[in-house]
Amino acid sequence: MCRELEFQIEEIREKDGLFVDRDIPASFFQEAMEPGNHVKKVHLKAAFSVGTDSILAEGSINAELELLCARCGEQFETRFNEDFSETYEFCESTINLRNIIYDILALSAGIQSLCSDACRGRCPQCGANLNHETCDCLSNMPNPFAAIRVLGNKEKRDA
Ligand SMILES: [Zn+2]
Ligand SMILES: [Zn+2]
Repeated sequence: MCRELEFQIEEIREKDGLFVDRDIPASFFQEAMEPGNHVKKVHLKAAFSVGTDSILAEGSINAELELLCARCGEQFETRFNEDFSETYEFCESTINLRNIIYDILALSAGIQSLCSDACRGRCPQCGANLNHETCDCLSNMPNPFAAIRVLGNKEKRDA
């Protein structure tokens, strides 16, 4: 299924290294996403170099994700680039980069959970998206400090 991400160690040793630069079907990684989030694009660049008893895989993942903002719930797109480096012993026979890419995507989706650092979220009362509109809920809410003041006066009176 994930042939695009599988590399034979024997073949890499015969060729004395390998360079990969290709798009990976985004559908391979949809499971790495929370419901509502989508992988739009994944591009892999990797260089495999042959050492004395292992192969060093160094590369980068360039990806495009469509995520739901954790604060306002609106969809937004994000792009990022993440480097990786991993060593594989000769005895392993196959190198599969799926887990590395999976972890990078899942982690990045978790970190970039807001449409913007300045996202104002939604009004807890009416649900208005405060990035696009304003509502009167907050200004109409009774001031919690007013209640404490009333209570304080009452205690003074009872004393
Ligand atoms: Zn937002
Ligand atoms: Zn409101």
